[in-house]
Amino acid sequence: MSRIIELRKIATEFGVQLSELGPDIDIEDRINHSYAYGCDEIALGIYEDEELLVISFFHELGHCVGSLPPYEECQYDHYKEARAWRVGLALAADRGITFSSRALEWAREQLTSYFKEDCPEHSPLKFLPEALREAGLR
Ligand SMILES: [Zn+2]
Repeated sequence: MSRIIELRKIATEFGVQLSELGPDIDIEDRINHSYAYGCDEIALGIYEDEELLVISFFHELGHCVGSLPPYEECQYDHYKEARAWRVGLALAADRGITFSSRALEWAREQLTSYFKEDCPEHSPLKFLPEALREAGLR
């Protein structure tokens, strides 16, 4: 089964439709980027590396499946992103899908990119390794 068909099947289990980012999005914003629209659509970007496509898919699925916490000052984006990784990686692990340390490092970089303000008391830098352990992927 091709990867995309497999991912589409998993998305369907959660009532999520899988699509591709279209040409209305700048090409540089489509490379190694995917988006979740609401809770029922994931649009995949362009990936040369299939493993990054798969780990991104599960992250976006984590956004769709994991309920959002209430807004709390600077914690919001970080918490939401960390939670989407945790939920998504656990969903992958449930299906026996594991990721290389390189892909997990890439995931960590994606999460870290949300750290724009100084909010050390809610640091997902601490939370993510914990989340990866929880997902059985570290
Ligand atoms: Zn995200």
